[in-house]
Amino acid sequence: MPGPFSSLSRRAVRILPLPLEQELVDRVAWLVRLRWVAAGAVLLLTLLARPVLSLDFPTGVLLGIGVAILAYNAVFFAVLRVLRQRISAPPVVFGRFATLQILTDLVSLTLIVYFTGGLESPALFFFLFHVIIASILLKSGFAFLQVAVSIGLVSLMALLEHAGVFPHQGIEIVGDPADASWLNLMILLGSFTATVLVAAFLATAITRQLARRTRELAYLRQRQERDFEKMRILNEVAQAVSSSIDLERVLSTITHQATEVMNAKGCSVRLLDESSRQLRMEASFGLSPAYLNKGPIDAGRGLDRRVLSGEAVCIRDAATDSDLQYPEEAKREGIRSILSVPLRAQEQVIGVLRLYSAEERCFSDEEVDFLMALAAQGAVAIRNARTFKELELLERAKSRFIFTVSHDLKAPLAAIQSQLSLLTQGYAGDLNEQQHHVLQRTVLRAESLQALIRDLLALGAIQNRLPEKNAAPVDLGALLERLREIHQPGARTRGIRIDLSLGAPGVRVKALPEDMERLFGNLLENAVKYCRVDGAVMVRLERFVDKARVVVADTGIGIPPEALPRIFEEFYRAPNAKELRTEGTGLGLALCKRIVDLYGGEIRAESVLDQGSTFTVLLPALPPEAAAEAK
Ligand code: ADP
Repeated sequence: MPGPFSSLSRRAVRILPLPLEQELVDRVAWLVRLRWVAAGAVLLLTLLARPVLSLDFPTGVLLGIGVAILAYNAVFFAVLRVLRQRISAPPVVFGRFATLQILTDLVSLTLIVYFTGGLESPALFFFLFHVIIASILLKSGFAFLQVAVSIGLVSLMALLEHAGVFPHQGIEIVGDPADASWLNLMILLGSFTATVLVAAFLATAITRQLARRTRELAYLRQRQERDFEKMRILNEVAQAVSSSIDLERVLSTITHQATEVMNAKGCSVRLLDESSRQLRMEASFGLSPAYLNKGPIDAGRGLDRRVLSGEAVCIRDAATDSDLQYPEEAKREGIRSILSVPLRAQEQVIGVLRLYSAEERCFSDEEVDFLMALAAQGAVAIRNARTFKELELLERAKSRFIFTVSHDLKAPLAAIQSQLSLLTQGYAGDLNEQQHHVLQRTVLRAESLQALIRDLLALGAIQNRLPEKNAAPVDLGALLERLREIHQPGARTRGIRIDLSLGAPGVRVKALPEDMERLFGNLLENAVKYCRVDGAVMVRLERFVDKARVVVADTGIGIPPEALPRIFEEFYRAPNAKELRTEGTGLGLALCKRIVDLYGGEIRAESVLDQGSTFTVLLPALPPEAAAEAK
């Protein structure tokens, strides 16, 4: 799409990388152009001097100098063309080239001055032009060098003339001597006028160039600021996309920022509804409810059909464009121009990002690119949100399935267990030793199945549960003491000591007691289960700023480093744990993690293989005063 900025931006891009070098090249070209004029003036004045002004001076020599100037300027012109084509020619080359030209000009001018009267020559003033040109083209040191060369050449000429080495070349006035003083006056005035005019021309030429450069610099600066702003916004949007699955937030950032940075009236995101083939409004900024609710947008018509085929489409005058589905409404809303770009996710167009302008405008390539970049970010956010939603639905379906199956298994399993207990108690007749042994193993298997069902039901029940409304202050010290009482006998049979240290009294959390029991019960059970015979389990409770911290450590088998990141996953059991204890569901820690998450806490595990493990739980604690009141 052609834009009004296109040609300007291309020109700016060419200037941008080499502004100083470009300036020097332009000025050297300007010098060559000026020289054509100067050589023409020399030839013309020489030819007119005798017939018009009745002056007598060496016309042939001066014509020769004029032709020589034309000739060497032709050489300079050719060299300049070659240098211009060599983009990489360093600026110093152009600097030297300019110096050479000015030196050549000074020699030519000295010759002209000599042949038109030496120090009395009206052309003497013209050294001034060279001083001005040298100051424009060269660095100040070199410019002063040219001044010195000018003085040197004129002095040398005057001295040599004075010493009689060269004869004096005076200008003779031919014809009526009565006109001589009049002619002298005219020549002086003429050369003075020419000097002043050329000096003014040179000075204004520099000022014009400077003004143009200043405008270009101001434009480049504005452009740079705009580009910087766009990059900042793209970065902000990219961060929002990568750090959040909150689609509403990301899309509202996109529509808001696009409107601001592109100086527009508003912006919207519409997503394609595949079943109805309509574009549904997903997010907007700067548009009135009346416009937003104007009616369904048919994806298969006009503008949107083109955008959905992957094209960026600009509508310059919304009120008259037949591609727009609601031109009247757009007019009422104060919309003049619209730029629509596709939202593309994995090669598939899933919607449209639209920018609305209150003024009639044509959007530049640069603006289209920027909106496309925002649209790409928006599409990523939409894809992320959709994937997340699908995963969530799958997760919910899986949990529902597990919950239902576990629930359905619970009653038959209870029946099997009661039948087994009748058998073991001999109600169905005496059992021989082998039958008794088989039955015992079946009872154990049924018990682990029951444990599995219990954990699965607990997991399903806690899934998607909101923070409990019925939560009440739970005294963690008392709870841990109770749990130690429960696990102590089992631990003692394997020579394991359970030490409990309650660093701060009355540490309480707001929770359901059964959740806390399950959380710390599981951790203590694991610590004892995976502890070595004659080992120790240490439980410590303390207040840590506004948190309750519970540490459960053991001197057990430890967790292999590669297994450590996975132990909170459902059904995961480390190889050394499977080896030591065949029973276990791999659901205990997953449950602990869910409970801790539910209460806004944190759980982490550290372990050294064959030396022991430490589990740390942090939960928001009730403030001590509230804890005291809750007693
Ligand atoms: P399990 O029923 O296997 O105990 P959990 O979910 O409670 O399942 O624990 C998951 C895995 O984490 C265990 O199988 C074991 O590998 C490891 N683990 C948990 N607690 C300990 C511990 N105190 N010492 C060593 N390994 C542990």
